[in-house]
Amino acid sequence: MEKETFIFDRNLFQKADQVRKRFCKDEVHLRGIIEFSNHCCRNCLYCGLRRDNKNITRYRMEPGEIAGLAVKIVAKGVNTIVLQSGDDFYYTQKSLGRIIGEIKQRTGAAITLSIGERPLDDYRAFRDSGADRYLLKHETSNPALYRILHPGQALKQRLKILEYLKKIGFQIGSGNIVGLPNQGIKDLVRDVLFLKELDVDMAGIGPFIPQKDTPLAAQPPGDLDLTLRILAMARILTKNAHLPATTALASLDRKNGQLRALRSGANVIMPDFTPVGYRKDYRIYDNKIGLSLRKAKEIISKAKRTISRGRGDSLKKRP
Ligand code: SAH
Repeated sequence: MEKETFIFDRNLFQKADQVRKRFCKDEVHLRGIIEFSNHCCRNCLYCGLRRDNKNITRYRMEPGEIAGLAVKIVAKGVNTIVLQSGDDFYYTQKSLGRIIGEIKQRTGAAITLSIGERPLDDYRAFRDSGADRYLLKHETSNPALYRILHPGQALKQRLKILEYLKKIGFQIGSGNIVGLPNQGIKDLVRDVLFLKELDVDMAGIGPFIPQKDTPLAAQPPGDLDLTLRILAMARILTKNAHLPATTALASLDRKNGQLRALRSGANVIMPDFTPVGYRKDYRIYDNKIGLSLRKAKEIISKAKRTISRGRGDSLKKRP
C-alpha cells in the first residue's frame, strides 16, 4: 500500500493498538519530567522559550533543588527522571554532570536528558556521569523547512548528534511536530520513516500548538486526528519503540487527547513535576497543561492498562 494511503486507513488506530499490545504489552511507563530552566540560546520559530521572546520570565532551578525534587519523584514510584530545558549553557558540562551524578547516586533511577544541542564532548561526560537516555526530536525531516524554523541550525547537525548519542551508548529518542506551517503529508510520512531508519528507542510525536509570543502565533494548531494517525503509524513501523502520549495532545483535547493516544499506539506518559511557581513560565506553547501523577494514573486506568514498576528501558536489542 502507498504510505500516504496507509495513513488514512480506517482501521489504523486498531492496528496500531494491536502492534502495541504484541510488542509492548499492557504496561505504561511513567517518566517524571523536571523542566529545570526556560533560558534558551536558540530561536526556534514555534517555541515560546526562543531567545527573542522578551515577554517571558526566565528561571533556572538550582542544582540542589533539581536533585532534591528527583529524589521525591522516585519516592513516588516513578523510576525515570527526565531533565528538560531550553538550550542553556549556564549549566556547564561539570555542573550538569554533578547534578546527574547526584540523582543517580541518590535514586538509581533512569535519567533522560532533553537539553538540546551541545558539544559532543558534553554528551560523553553526561553519559559517564550516569545519564541513560537522550531525547532530541528531529522536529521535521524536511531540511528546507527545518532551516526556516530553526535559524542558524541544520537538520544534518541534529542527525549527527543523534548518531553520536547512539554510538556512545545512550538510549535515544527523537520525534517530530505535526501540523507545522508548510508541512505536507509526505513530510510526515518521511518523519516516521526516519524514526524507523534511525531505529530509535523512543519517539515523541505531538501536534504544533501556537504560542502567542512567537512568529507563528497566528498559525492554526496541528490536527488531533492527524497527529494520532502519525503516532499510530510510528507504532506500526517502529514496533517496540517507547512512544509517549504527549502533553501537547492534551492541549488539543484535554479530556481525551492522551487517552486516545494510549489507544493509538502510545505506551508512555510523562507527568510534570516542575515546581508550580516555575511551571507557568515554561511556556513552549500556549495552554500547556501540567499533568499530575494522579491524572496520569487515572488515564492509564481508564485505558485499562497497568503501570510499569520498572525503569522502562529500551525494548530494542542492541549488540
Ligand atoms: N531545548 C531542548 C528541549 C526543547 S522543548 C531541545 O531543543 O531539544 C521540547 C520539545 O517541545 C521540542 O523538541 C519541540 O518538539 C516541542 N515544542 C516546542 N514548541 C512547540 C510548539 N509550539 N508546539 C508543539 N511542540 C513544541
